[in-house]
Amino acid sequence: MSSEAASNTNRSADILPAWMSVLAVVAHPDDESFGLGAILDAFTRTGARVEVLCLTHGEASTLHGVPGDLASMRAAELAAAADALGVSHTTLHHHSDGALSELSRTRLATDVVAAAESSRADGLLVFDTAGVSGHADHVAATSAGLLAAERLNLPVLGWTLPETVAAQLNQEFGASFTGHREEDIGLRVTVDRAEGRLLRVEHRGGDRFDIDVRGHVIGVDQPVEDGGDDTAPTPTELFIASLASCVAFYARRYLARHDLPTEGLVVEATFDMGTRPARVSGIDVRLILPAGVPAERRDALLAVAAHCTVHNTLTTTPKVAITLADVAADG
Ligand SMILES: [Zn+2]
Repeated sequence: MSSEAASNTNRSADILPAWMSVLAVVAHPDDESFGLGAILDAFTRTGARVEVLCLTHGEASTLHGVPGDLASMRAAELAAAADALGVSHTTLHHHSDGALSELSRTRLATDVVAAAESSRADGLLVFDTAGVSGHADHVAATSAGLLAAERLNLPVLGWTLPETVAAQLNQEFGASFTGHREEDIGLRVTVDRAEGRLLRVEHRGGDRFDIDVRGHVIGVDQPVEDGGDDTAPTPTELFIASLASCVAFYARRYLARHDLPTEGLVVEATFDMGTRPARVSGIDVRLILPAGVPAERRDALLAVAAHCTVHNTLTTTPKVAITLADVAADG
């Protein structure tokens, strides 16, 4: 967006600024999701801590599909969305929805400064200066964010849409988004509108299976003593490997963000099996850091690595549905 935008102008890769803590400043519950959701998700995946400051309860929305008190329903929705997005803390203010632009910019900026200070934000994430959808509250929230950032000398990322995407959304949903020209957009986060991600496991004889993941094929098998051909790891070993490699990924990103050595980073894992039901009953994951990582960085690194996506998935159990498809495989 403006000269206050973060200096990262890498257009080809999704390289976010190396912020450890991000504060998103929005006007309404749902702005964090429909607007900033993909960016917040991308930040949490890098191991950054994300907080949301929402200035109103969104009680004036006209998109009111169900009976009930809209202010409290939207507050609950914001909490649920924050949970899904991996947001660590949400601050919800009671300014009046639809009237943010009537409040003084300085007044709103004070709220932003307080939230940025308490979250120790390294940068702010806001809608672009036109408010993206043109809503006056969005414009006011961004304006307050920019003033607060100026006071705290923090960089700001402004979310916008490419013109083509804005035009498509306007056509599909009768919305009034304003986009920016491709050449004016400094950083790109690509979002897949597909609902879930598909993996496909196919039988290859004996206990062997091929797992197709976006065209990458990984095999699983069983050891000979368990009746297999030992051509590949077992599914359980792959599961532990997934955790260990996710920890490694988060640790390397942390080291890279802090300009610390990454070469020679090793993660080892051991696990125990339990019965009734058959399961993994214990996992130990050990990081062996490259030489030259200062002692005072080790706790923070461990905290980031311990909150990797796979570990989070184990500690915050996902809903798993296992069902039979209606059709039989042919052949
Ligand atoms: Zn909004």
